[in-house]
Amino acid sequence: MTTTITDPSLKIIDGKAVAKALRVELATEVADLKESAGITPGLAVVLVGEDPASKVYVRNKARASEEVGIRSVQHILPEETKEAELLSLISELNSDADIHGILVQLPLPAHINQATIIEAISAEKDADGFHPYNMGRLLTGSPTLEPCTPLGVMHLIETTGLDIAGKDAIVIGRSNIVGKPVAVMLLGQNATVTLCHSRTAGLAEKIATADIVVAAIGRAEMIKGEWIKEGATVIDVGMNRNADGKLCGDVEYATAAKRAARITPVPGGVGPMTIAMLLKNTVTAARAIHKI
Ligand code: NDP
Repeated sequence: MTTTITDPSLKIIDGKAVAKALRVELATEVADLKESAGITPGLAVVLVGEDPASKVYVRNKARASEEVGIRSVQHILPEETKEAELLSLISELNSDADIHGILVQLPLPAHINQATIIEAISAEKDADGFHPYNMGRLLTGSPTLEPCTPLGVMHLIETTGLDIAGKDAIVIGRSNIVGKPVAVMLLGQNATVTLCHSRTAGLAEKIATADIVVAAIGRAEMIKGEWIKEGATVIDVGMNRNADGKLCGDVEYATAAKRAARITPVPGGVGPMTIAMLLKNTVTAARAIHKI
Protein backbone atom coordinates (compact mmCIF):
# COMPACT_ATOMS: atom_id res chain seq x y z
CA MET A 1 0.00 0.00 0.00
CA THR A 2 1.28 3.46 -0.84
CA THR A 3 1.01 6.21 1.73
CA THR A 4 -0.25 9.40 0.08
CA ILE A 5 1.09 12.73 1.21
CA THR A 6 -2.17 14.70 1.48
CA ASP A 7 -0.85 17.87 3.10
CA PRO A 8 0.04 20.23 0.22
CA SER A 9 2.53 22.03 2.44
CA LEU A 10 4.69 18.88 2.38
CA LYS A 11 6.87 20.04 -0.47
CA ILE A 12 9.84 17.85 0.38
CA ILE A 13 9.35 14.20 -0.53
CA ASP A 14 10.87 12.37 2.44
CA GLY A 15 12.46 9.27 0.94
CA LYS A 16 13.80 8.17 4.31
CA ALA A 17 10.31 8.10 5.84
CA VAL A 18 8.74 6.45 2.78
CA ALA A 19 11.47 3.78 2.71
CA LYS A 20 11.04 3.14 6.43
CA ALA A 21 7.27 2.67 6.00
CA LEU A 22 7.97 0.23 3.17
CA ARG A 23 10.42 -1.75 5.33
CA VAL A 24 7.84 -1.98 8.13
CA GLU A 25 5.26 -3.38 5.64
CA LEU A 26 7.85 -5.83 4.31
CA ALA A 27 8.77 -7.05 7.80
CA THR A 28 5.11 -7.93 8.38
CA GLU A 29 4.89 -9.66 5.00
CA VAL A 30 8.07 -11.67 5.66
CA ALA A 31 6.80 -12.72 9.11
CA ASP A 32 3.50 -13.84 7.52
CA LEU A 33 5.34 -15.81 4.84
CA LYS A 34 7.36 -17.60 7.52
CA GLU A 35 4.32 -18.41 9.62
CA SER A 36 1.84 -19.33 6.91
CA ALA A 37 4.14 -21.06 4.40
CA GLY A 38 7.39 -21.77 6.29
CA ILE A 39 9.34 -19.69 3.77
CA THR A 40 12.16 -17.34 4.74
CA PRO A 41 13.14 -15.22 1.73
CA GLY A 42 16.91 -15.41 1.16
CA LEU A 43 19.12 -12.83 -0.57
CA ALA A 44 22.68 -13.54 -1.72
CA VAL A 45 24.89 -10.51 -2.30
CA VAL A 46 28.12 -11.05 -4.21
CA LEU A 47 30.98 -8.56 -4.15
CA VAL A 48 34.15 -8.91 -6.21
CA GLY A 49 37.06 -6.71 -5.18
CA GLU A 50 37.84 -4.07 -2.64
CA ASP A 51 35.95 -0.96 -3.81
CA PRO A 52 35.23 0.89 -0.53
CA ALA A 53 31.87 2.33 -1.68
CA SER A 54 30.72 -1.12 -2.87
CA LYS A 55 31.73 -2.64 0.47
CA VAL A 56 29.53 -0.10 2.29
CA TYR A 57 26.59 -0.79 -0.08
CA VAL A 58 26.92 -4.54 0.45
CA ARG A 59 27.06 -4.14 4.24
CA ASN A 60 24.00 -1.85 4.20
CA LYS A 61 22.06 -4.29 2.02
CA ALA A 62 22.84 -7.18 4.40
CA ARG A 63 21.83 -5.15 7.45
CA ALA A 64 18.58 -3.94 5.87
CA SER A 65 17.72 -7.52 4.79
CA GLU A 66 18.15 -8.86 8.29
CA GLU A 67 16.08 -6.04 9.78
CA VAL A 68 13.02 -7.13 7.80
CA GLY A 69 13.64 -10.85 8.42
CA ILE A 70 15.19 -11.75 5.05
CA ARG A 71 18.05 -14.25 5.34
CA SER A 72 21.16 -12.55 4.00
CA VAL A 73 24.23 -14.34 2.63
CA GLN A 74 27.33 -12.46 1.51
CA HIS A 75 30.03 -13.74 -0.83
CA ILE A 76 33.07 -11.46 -0.81
CA LEU A 77 35.52 -12.52 -3.51
CA PRO A 78 39.02 -11.20 -4.21
CA GLU A 79 39.65 -8.70 -7.03
CA GLU A 80 41.52 -11.33 -9.09
CA THR A 81 38.53 -13.74 -9.15
CA LYS A 82 38.18 -15.20 -12.67
CA GLU A 83 34.94 -14.78 -14.62
CA ALA A 84 34.55 -18.59 -14.68
CA GLU A 85 34.78 -18.73 -10.87
CA LEU A 86 32.10 -16.07 -10.50
CA LEU A 87 29.89 -17.90 -13.01
CA SER A 88 30.31 -21.09 -11.02
CA LEU A 89 29.21 -19.35 -7.78
CA ILE A 90 26.17 -17.88 -9.58
CA SER A 91 25.28 -21.33 -10.88
CA GLU A 92 25.38 -22.69 -7.29
CA LEU A 93 23.20 -19.83 -6.04
CA ASN A 94 20.77 -20.34 -8.94
CA SER A 95 20.13 -23.88 -7.74
CA ASP A 96 20.16 -23.13 -3.99
CA ALA A 97 16.55 -23.54 -2.79
CA ASP A 98 17.15 -21.24 0.21
CA ILE A 99 18.15 -18.33 -2.02
CA HIS A 100 15.40 -16.34 -3.77
CA GLY A 101 17.32 -13.21 -4.75
CA ILE A 102 20.86 -12.85 -6.16
CA LEU A 103 22.61 -9.52 -6.49
CA VAL A 104 26.08 -9.04 -7.92
CA GLN A 105 27.37 -5.65 -6.81
CA LEU A 106 28.39 -3.45 -9.75
CA PRO A 107 30.77 -2.29 -11.06
CA LEU A 108 32.75 -5.50 -11.55
CA PRO A 109 36.53 -5.53 -12.14
CA ALA A 110 37.40 -4.81 -15.79
CA HIS A 111 38.41 -8.42 -16.59
CA ILE A 112 34.85 -9.65 -15.89
CA ASN A 113 32.13 -9.07 -18.48
CA GLN A 114 29.20 -7.41 -16.69
CA ALA A 115 26.58 -8.48 -19.27
CA THR A 116 27.69 -12.13 -19.10
CA ILE A 117 27.32 -12.11 -15.32
CA ILE A 118 23.91 -10.39 -15.33
CA GLU A 119 22.61 -12.89 -17.89
CA ALA A 120 23.94 -15.85 -15.87
CA ILE A 121 21.74 -14.98 -12.90
CA SER A 122 18.48 -16.90 -13.03
CA ALA A 123 15.85 -14.39 -14.21
CA GLU A 124 13.51 -15.47 -11.40
CA LYS A 125 16.19 -14.66 -8.77
CA ASP A 126 17.30 -11.39 -10.41
CA ALA A 127 16.78 -9.12 -7.37
CA ASP A 128 18.26 -6.12 -9.19
CA GLY A 129 15.89 -6.52 -12.15
CA PHE A 130 18.74 -6.08 -14.66
CA HIS A 131 18.41 -9.41 -16.52
CA PRO A 132 17.42 -8.94 -20.19
CA TYR A 133 14.37 -11.16 -19.63
CA ASN A 134 13.08 -8.91 -16.83
CA MET A 135 13.99 -5.77 -18.80
CA GLY A 136 12.12 -7.17 -21.80
CA ARG A 137 9.07 -7.91 -19.65
CA LEU A 138 9.14 -4.31 -18.42
CA LEU A 139 9.41 -2.97 -21.96
CA THR A 140 6.52 -5.12 -23.20
CA GLY A 141 4.24 -4.03 -20.38
CA SER A 142 4.17 -7.23 -18.27
CA PRO A 143 6.76 -6.44 -15.60
CA THR A 144 8.23 -9.17 -13.41
CA LEU A 145 11.25 -8.15 -11.31
CA GLU A 146 11.97 -4.47 -12.01
CA PRO A 147 15.13 -2.40 -11.36
CA CYS A 148 15.21 -1.09 -7.79
CA THR A 149 16.07 2.60 -8.19
CA PRO A 150 13.43 3.20 -10.90
CA LEU A 151 10.88 1.36 -8.72
CA GLY A 152 11.85 3.69 -5.88
CA VAL A 153 11.40 6.75 -8.11
CA MET A 154 7.90 5.62 -9.10
CA HIS A 155 6.95 4.82 -5.52
CA LEU A 156 8.03 8.31 -4.40
CA ILE A 157 5.93 9.95 -7.14
CA GLU A 158 2.96 7.80 -6.06
CA THR A 159 3.31 8.97 -2.45
CA THR A 160 2.65 12.54 -3.59
CA GLY A 161 -0.78 11.49 -4.85
CA LEU A 162 0.02 12.94 -8.30
CA ASP A 163 -1.97 11.43 -11.16
CA ILE A 164 0.79 10.61 -13.66
CA ALA A 165 -1.56 9.91 -16.58
CA GLY A 166 -1.45 12.65 -19.21
CA LYS A 167 1.42 14.52 -17.56
CA ASP A 168 4.52 15.60 -19.48
CA ALA A 169 7.50 13.84 -17.93
CA ILE A 170 11.17 14.35 -18.71
CA VAL A 171 13.91 11.90 -17.76
CA ILE A 172 17.48 13.10 -18.04
CA GLY A 173 19.90 10.16 -18.30
CA ARG A 174 19.42 6.96 -20.32
CA SER A 175 21.39 4.31 -18.43
CA ASN A 176 20.02 0.77 -18.34
CA ILE A 177 19.85 0.84 -14.55
CA VAL A 178 18.05 4.17 -14.04
CA GLY A 179 17.02 6.45 -16.93
CA LYS A 180 15.67 3.96 -19.49
CA PRO A 181 13.59 1.89 -17.05
CA VAL A 182 12.21 5.03 -15.34
CA ALA A 183 11.10 6.32 -18.76
CA VAL A 184 9.38 3.01 -19.54
CA MET A 185 7.67 2.96 -16.13
CA LEU A 186 6.38 6.52 -16.57
CA LEU A 187 5.13 5.58 -20.03
CA GLY A 188 3.42 2.56 -18.47
CA GLN A 189 1.58 5.01 -16.20
CA ASN A 190 0.47 7.00 -19.29
CA ALA A 191 2.80 9.97 -18.96
CA THR A 192 4.11 11.54 -22.18
CA VAL A 193 7.83 10.94 -21.80
CA THR A 194 10.87 12.76 -23.18
CA LEU A 195 14.13 10.86 -22.59
CA CYS A 196 17.23 13.07 -22.66
CA HIS A 197 20.96 12.39 -22.67
CA SER A 198 24.31 14.07 -23.27
CA ARG A 199 23.50 14.78 -26.95
CA THR A 200 20.08 16.33 -26.27
CA ALA A 201 19.69 19.84 -27.70
CA GLY A 202 17.77 22.51 -25.81
CA LEU A 203 17.62 20.69 -22.48
CA ALA A 204 16.59 23.78 -20.47
CA GLU A 205 13.62 24.49 -22.79
CA LYS A 206 12.48 20.88 -22.62
CA ILE A 207 12.68 20.79 -18.82
CA ALA A 208 10.69 24.04 -18.64
CA THR A 209 7.62 22.29 -20.11
CA ALA A 210 7.70 19.20 -17.87
CA ASP A 211 5.26 18.41 -15.06
CA ILE A 212 7.55 15.62 -13.81
CA VAL A 213 11.35 15.86 -13.90
CA VAL A 214 13.54 12.84 -13.13
CA ALA A 215 17.26 13.64 -13.12
CA ALA A 216 19.67 10.68 -13.35
CA ILE A 217 22.86 12.15 -14.74
CA GLY A 218 25.65 12.14 -12.18
CA ARG A 219 26.62 15.83 -12.51
CA ALA A 220 26.44 18.04 -9.46
CA GLU A 221 23.53 20.53 -9.66
CA MET A 222 23.57 20.57 -13.46
CA ILE A 223 19.80 21.15 -13.69
CA LYS A 224 19.23 24.77 -12.76
CA GLY A 225 16.31 25.75 -10.54
CA GLU A 226 15.17 28.39 -13.01
CA TRP A 227 14.57 25.66 -15.67
CA ILE A 228 11.91 24.00 -13.51
CA LYS A 229 8.26 24.68 -14.37
CA GLU A 230 6.21 26.17 -11.50
CA GLY A 231 4.40 23.34 -9.71
CA ALA A 232 6.47 20.50 -11.18
CA THR A 233 7.38 17.31 -9.31
CA VAL A 234 11.15 16.86 -9.22
CA ILE A 235 12.86 13.55 -8.46
CA ASP A 236 16.63 13.78 -8.17
CA VAL A 237 18.43 10.44 -8.51
CA GLY A 238 21.91 11.94 -8.73
CA MET A 239 24.49 11.37 -6.02
CA ASN A 240 27.43 13.70 -6.39
CA ARG A 241 29.90 15.74 -4.38
CA ASN A 242 29.85 19.51 -4.91
CA ALA A 243 32.91 21.76 -4.86
CA ASP A 244 32.79 21.81 -1.03
CA GLY A 245 32.80 18.01 -0.93
CA LYS A 246 29.16 17.88 0.22
CA LEU A 247 26.73 15.28 -1.09
CA CYS A 248 24.35 16.81 -3.65
CA GLY A 249 22.04 15.82 -6.48
CA ASP A 250 21.84 16.62 -10.19
CA VAL A 251 19.34 19.43 -9.50
CA GLU A 252 20.19 22.81 -8.01
CA TYR A 253 18.02 22.10 -4.98
CA ALA A 254 17.65 25.48 -3.26
CA THR A 255 16.39 27.29 -6.38
CA ALA A 256 14.40 24.34 -7.77
CA ALA A 257 12.55 23.94 -4.45
CA LYS A 258 11.18 27.48 -4.84
CA ARG A 259 9.42 26.54 -8.10
CA ALA A 260 8.62 22.84 -7.67
CA ALA A 261 5.45 21.63 -5.95
CA ARG A 262 7.29 18.53 -4.73
CA ILE A 263 10.98 17.73 -4.70
CA THR A 264 13.30 15.04 -3.32
CA PRO A 265 16.33 16.12 -1.31
CA VAL A 266 19.81 14.61 -1.70
CA PRO A 267 20.59 12.84 0.55
CA GLY A 268 17.33 11.44 1.94
CA GLY A 269 15.30 11.20 -1.29
CA VAL A 270 15.76 8.40 -3.81
CA GLY A 271 18.81 6.87 -2.07
CA PRO A 272 16.97 5.10 0.79
CA MET A 273 14.35 3.76 -1.65
CA THR A 274 16.80 1.64 -3.65
CA ILE A 275 17.60 -0.78 -0.83
CA ALA A 276 13.94 -0.92 0.27
CA MET A 277 12.99 -1.95 -3.29
CA LEU A 278 15.74 -4.58 -3.35
CA LEU A 279 14.15 -6.16 -0.27
CA LYS A 280 10.72 -5.93 -1.90
CA ASN A 281 12.05 -7.65 -5.03
CA THR A 282 13.51 -10.47 -2.91
CA VAL A 283 10.11 -11.06 -1.31
CA THR A 284 8.40 -10.84 -4.72
CA ALA A 285 10.89 -13.39 -6.10
CA ALA A 286 10.31 -15.75 -3.14
CA ARG A 287 6.54 -15.57 -3.69
CA ALA A 288 6.89 -16.19 -7.44
CA ILE A 289 9.29 -19.13 -6.97
CA HIS A 290 6.96 -20.76 -4.41
CA LYS A 291 3.86 -19.70 -6.38
CA ILE A 292 2.21 -17.93 -3.44
P1 NDP B 1 25.38 6.79 -16.04
O1 NDP B 1 26.70 7.47 -16.01
O2 NDP B 1 25.31 5.36 -16.45
O3 NDP B 1 24.40 7.62 -17.01
C1 NDP B 1 24.37 9.00 -16.97
C2 NDP B 1 23.42 9.50 -18.02
O4 NDP B 1 23.43 10.93 -17.97
C3 NDP B 1 23.82 9.10 -19.45
O5 NDP B 1 22.69 8.65 -20.15
C4 NDP B 1 24.38 10.38 -20.05
O6 NDP B 1 24.13 10.52 -21.42
C5 NDP B 1 23.58 11.44 -19.29
N1 NDP B 1 24.29 12.71 -19.27
C6 NDP B 1 25.59 12.94 -18.98
N2 NDP B 1 25.88 14.24 -19.12
C7 NDP B 1 24.76 14.84 -19.55
C8 NDP B 1 24.43 16.17 -19.89
N3 NDP B 1 25.33 17.16 -19.83
N4 NDP B 1 23.17 16.43 -20.28
C9 NDP B 1 22.25 15.46 -20.35
N5 NDP B 1 22.50 14.18 -20.02
C10 NDP B 1 23.74 13.87 -19.63
O7 NDP B 1 24.74 7.02 -14.61
P2 NDP B 1 23.64 6.20 -13.79
O8 NDP B 1 22.36 6.18 -14.53
O9 NDP B 1 24.20 4.94 -13.29
O10 NDP B 1 23.50 7.16 -12.50
C11 NDP B 1 23.06 8.50 -12.63
C12 NDP B 1 23.18 9.18 -11.27
O11 NDP B 1 22.31 8.52 -10.35
C13 NDP B 1 24.57 9.12 -10.63
O12 NDP B 1 24.78 10.30 -9.88
C14 NDP B 1 24.49 7.94 -9.69
O13 NDP B 1 25.37 8.05 -8.59
C15 NDP B 1 23.06 8.09 -9.23
N6 NDP B 1 22.47 6.81 -8.78
C16 NDP B 1 21.82 6.83 -7.57
C17 NDP B 1 21.22 5.70 -7.10
C18 NDP B 1 20.50 5.77 -5.81
O14 NDP B 1 20.22 4.74 -5.21
N7 NDP B 1 20.16 6.97 -5.33
C19 NDP B 1 21.28 4.41 -7.83
C20 NDP B 1 21.91 4.53 -9.12
C21 NDP B 1 22.50 5.69 -9.56
P3 NDP B 1 24.81 9.57 -22.53
O15 NDP B 1 24.04 8.30 -22.48
O16 NDP B 1 24.62 10.31 -23.79
O17 NDP B 1 26.23 9.39 -22.13
